[in-house]
Amino acid sequence: MPTTLPSSAREALQTSFGEALQQTVSLAPHTTFQIGGPADWYVAVRSADELATALRIARTYDLPFFLLGTGANVIVGDRGVRGLVIHNRARHVEVDPSTNRLWAESGAIVYPDLIERAVSAGLSGLEHYVGIPSTVGGALWQNLHFLSPPPERERTMFLEEVVHAADILTEEGDRQTVDVDYFDFGYDYSILHDRDDIVLSATFQLTPGDEERMREIMDANLQWRAERHPPLDTEPSVGSIFKKIEGVGAGRLIDECGLKGTRIGGAMVTHRHANIFVNADRATAADVCALIQHVQDVVERETGYQLETEIDFVGEFAPPTETTPTTEPKDPDLVSAEERARTS
Ligand SMILES: Cc1cc2nc3c(=O)[nH]c(=O)nc-3n(C[C@H](O)[C@H](O)[C@H](O)COP(=O)(O)OP(=O)(O)OC[C@H]3O[C@@H](n4cnc5c(N)ncnc54)[C@H](O)[C@@H]3O)c2cc1C
Repeated sequence: MPTTLPSSAREALQTSFGEALQQTVSLAPHTTFQIGGPADWYVAVRSADELATALRIARTYDLPFFLLGTGANVIVGDRGVRGLVIHNRARHVEVDPSTNRLWAESGAIVYPDLIERAVSAGLSGLEHYVGIPSTVGGALWQNLHFLSPPPERERTMFLEEVVHAADILTEEGDRQTVDVDYFDFGYDYSILHDRDDIVLSATFQLTPGDEERMREIMDANLQWRAERHPPLDTEPSVGSIFKKIEGVGAGRLIDECGLKGTRIGGAMVTHRHANIFVNADRATAADVCALIQHVQDVVERETGYQLETEIDFVGEFAPPTETTPTTEPKDPDLVSAEERARTS
């Protein structure tokens, strides 16, 4: 049942947002997977203050809400999202050369918004995350990570290394500035998973760097991604589906079970990378859920490992699609991420 907005909540939202408040908005185009039903109510906010206003109204009127960034780590159910979806389009970014700090509203896009501003100001620390679809808020939620620069690529780098402070609206409704320790960052983890705090803006402490070297790192990382990940515009995805299994590799298990190319409905395990599912052709969330279940079942039966999903499931889901999985053949010229890992 779509959410009926109490007239007082609707008036408050309309007073603050006017025509930006919309009803029944399809969320699929606002996610990198291009999957999902409609938001009952939807508002795109354009500044940190607007974001705080939308949150306060939702909380005051007990309206369920979901805050959406670039939708790169979420799968939205086919039956849509009840309540209000707040789409974070607060994208203002400022650089302070006297402190080497970069301040950004939480809807700023990590690449290009943030990285281009930092690198062209000669500030290093963010360039490693080039090519990852994310807002600043989503990046803090997840503690964005990627490998250290080539040729060594000897460790995983985390966004927490450059987070200085953030302006948040706490779940209790206070607007406060918190430092990096507040977030209790871990692998794919921050306190935002366990508390309904919302990041309004963040400040990053960067260090002076050589622009040419930073651009070399960016080119190398973009090439690394292009060789291993499906391109989002033609093969929409949500990045890795399953959590990393230390020392084993979720993708390696899926590959060893011969599951690449497995397809249910429009959802498929890509031949490019065993831990990434693609929306091959009008996939539904029900297709993706059935494929997740199938891959988990086969991997557990054949290896004993239990794969856990790392994506956020949002809204209402229809039952998983009940069709027998099929297998799509691999393009013989394609070199997959797993093949590259074996030969490097
Ligand atoms: C092709 C591809 C490659 C990827 N590669 C990587 C990679 O190399 N490394 C990596 O770490 N991740 C990777 N990811 C995952 C994804 O990019 C990150 O999880 C990203 O940080 C998600 O940000 P978002 O803005 O899209 O968040 P969304 O997916 O929109 O939201 C994710 C969660 O964050 C919450 N959230 C969003 N904004 C805020 C805020 N302001 N305050 C509090 N909570 C908030 C949302 O409510 C939701 O619960 C990849 C994804 C794709 C599609």
